[in-house]
Amino acid sequence: MHEVLLLKCGELVLKGLNRRRFEDKLIKTVKDRFKKLGEFDIWYMQSTIYVEPIGDQDMKAALDAAVKIFGITSVSKAIACPKDIAEIQKTAAEYLADRLNRTTTFKVDAKRADKRFPLTSPQIGVEVGGYLAEAFPHLQAKMNDPEVTVMVEIRDKAAYISCERFKGAGGMPVGSNGRAMLLLSGGIDSPVAGHMMAKRGLELGAVHYYSYPYTSKEALDKVLHLADLLTDYCGKITVSTVPFTEIQLEIQKNCMEDYFTIIMRRFMMRIAQRVAEMQNCGALITGESLGQVASQTMEAMTCTQAVCTMPVFRPAVGLDKEEIVERARAIGTFETSSLPFEDCCTVFTPKHPQTKPKLEKVEEQERKLDVEGLIERALAGVHRTTLG
Ligand code: ATP
Ligand code: MG
Repeated sequence: MHEVLLLKCGELVLKGLNRRRFEDKLIKTVKDRFKKLGEFDIWYMQSTIYVEPIGDQDMKAALDAAVKIFGITSVSKAIACPKDIAEIQKTAAEYLADRLNRTTTFKVDAKRADKRFPLTSPQIGVEVGGYLAEAFPHLQAKMNDPEVTVMVEIRDKAAYISCERFKGAGGMPVGSNGRAMLLLSGGIDSPVAGHMMAKRGLELGAVHYYSYPYTSKEALDKVLHLADLLTDYCGKITVSTVPFTEIQLEIQKNCMEDYFTIIMRRFMMRIAQRVAEMQNCGALITGESLGQVASQTMEAMTCTQAVCTMPVFRPAVGLDKEEIVERARAIGTFETSSLPFEDCCTVFTPKHPQTKPKLEKVEEQERKLDVEGLIERALAGVHRTTLG
């Protein structure tokens, strides 16, 4: 007897002609994720990805990894057994003994995908249900809302018995909708934004601006750690770290104080777009949320958006801080995001930032700067780290 995982694929079932491409992406992702965990045999059949351990493997770690993969709607732990009703009955009683001893009501849901199997789905239900009721006399069959639902699936290779199903990550397979560049700060919002867009099938690259010596090595390590946490969901991420001190000092020296932040943010967007183009990304992603701070008003967004030709995805734009925090906790980035290291934005924050900046005014201020030269020097200092 050995345990396997059954990963059910979700939205991609609906994708018509693209279906094949989606499936290929998903299977490749699953294989990549499990490579790190040990040896597994992985194959796809009838909208299900089978993950079977070769020898002894850590199935808890396998389950943890499986529920983080976008494109999977549910994950069941199951036992495989020969397609013979007596074997199925015996295996179900043995495999589920622990769980059935701790419950009072149950039912059996049977599904016969392999139509060559001699019993119909309802007949399988009756046979297995009757056997279990006899083997565990304290059990009561209950069709509506039982404590335990025993699943029996007759498929091509074997019969699978399970009673534990876990919610999958949902969404679409990473990469199935292309690549995008995440502006990743050390804060709470941007990792959440990256996670949300990866869920919609985007493969991520990340760009981070740091202002050494005003920001520390620890602040940079924190960002790399955040990116690493995201790789559990998003797969490989290359983080491009961009030296930003010269740009910030030049803005501080030449521009009106209340426009510092907005001008700085425009540099971030311009550079992110260049890095994105070099890495085949079709969009930018930020963790902005409407009205959260001065640089996230509609007027401020108009000014930052103006330097971008790519779409800018801001999935957190309609979320409250509390909702973002809740998501950060759920995906496991909150703790790291909360470490108290300074970000380059906070180091040069003006006392009274403009909440309604005017684009003409911003452009007038920027004419005092060698915008192209600053961008080129920053790009020349980019350092890449690939995680995951
Ligand atoms: P976060 O929690 O993501 O840091 P925030 O609430 O602190 O967001 P801002 O500092 O205004 O908001 O930043 C808005 C967005 O700009 C961030 O979500 C992120 O996408 C991007 N950003 C800010 N600072 C940096 C940085 N140092 N490097 C890369 N991107 C950044
Ligand atoms: Mg921030």
